[in-house]
Amino acid sequence: MNGVTGSDVFFSDMNVSTGDSLLKKMRRVCEAAGIGKMDMKKKFVAVKMHFGEYGNLSFLRPNYAKVVADMVLERGGVPFLTDCSTLYPGCRKNAVEHLDTAYANGFSPLTTGCHVIIGDGLKGTDESLIPINGEYVKEAKIGKVIADADILISLSHFKGHEITGVGGAVKNLGMGCASRRGKMEQHSDAKPVLDHERCRGCRECLRACAHGAITFPDRKAVIDYDACVGCGMCISACRYDVIGAGPDSSKDILCRKMAEYAAAVVRGKPNFHISIVCDVSPLCDCYGGNNPPIIPDVGIFASFDPVALDSACAEMSAAQRPIGREVCGRDIFADVNEGTDWRITLDHAEKLGLGTVSYNLVKVD
Ligand code: SF4
Ligand code: SF4
Repeated sequence: MNGVTGSDVFFSDMNVSTGDSLLKKMRRVCEAAGIGKMDMKKKFVAVKMHFGEYGNLSFLRPNYAKVVADMVLERGGVPFLTDCSTLYPGCRKNAVEHLDTAYANGFSPLTTGCHVIIGDGLKGTDESLIPINGEYVKEAKIGKVIADADILISLSHFKGHEITGVGGAVKNLGMGCASRRGKMEQHSDAKPVLDHERCRGCRECLRACAHGAITFPDRKAVIDYDACVGCGMCISACRYDVIGAGPDSSKDILCRKMAEYAAAVVRGKPNFHISIVCDVSPLCDCYGGNNPPIIPDVGIFASFDPVALDSACAEMSAAQRPIGREVCGRDIFADVNEGTDWRITLDHAEKLGLGTVSYNLVKVD
């Protein structure tokens, strides 16, 4: 909601004149938004982003990450790029595969000027517990590397999402910074499910389970749900993708849990947020492929307030004329992902004091 009492969100569109570039514009937007006010000298600065699933081509290019890393280096800070591994099977489910994917997608010290460090360790279990005492989450499970960083900068590709409506700064913080257990807590009220028929009997899950919750009554695994604590270790241990997360929480609850996680991630830590609204695909960059954009490229946004930032990105996106679909009278994100409502996350985040949905848009040339 655009209003005079909200947080400042700085913005530039994606048009460039000769001699200018989007990278220069991005720097101008960040500087106008006050990134220089942060004391970065000798501080570890985590730049939280998404390196894209292998095969997806709508994730943010490494060139954008280099602009952020350069701004940190110029201010005496120690930047690194980070993300936590995924809960689901794919190319980013442990630190080794995640790094392979980041390199394959072009993120390396040569291209970005800094290192990639996976935020939650080899198997997604390296976490810090951050008390939040929210409505749904008492203790957020956050990747230890991110929790240990002195400063957090989120760099988000703003796009649609099949559960949360949009993927922007709050999702990058809340879901993206969570360890495996943290992601499980947000995604699911239940424990993992195991497809008994497809089990190969390799017993890797048995070795991974510290709670004695996996047994082999007939050479194939079963989970004893009385003993299972829902840590999710067996999911990453199974190389055959036989074990997966349980049934999803309702979309609304997931959105609110995610907001609580985002509030925990930035609690007590200087933070700054950048979103680029380009290649706005209907689904998130976790898919190994992407559909064409649903709206024209909108611009580059930056703010100290991640809630105002998402609010501005979502409303300016919704004001665009959709590509390849009729104008239907409701916002584009609810139209492409039926049953989603991005406002649920932002309203809950505002209630938690993470930021405000009201914003003042400040145009930067
Ligand atoms: S989720 Fe954790 S406790 Fe439950 S079966 Fe898997 S490894 Fe064991
Ligand atoms: S790791 Fe997977 S395939 Fe191996 S025993 Fe466990 S469930 Fe079966």
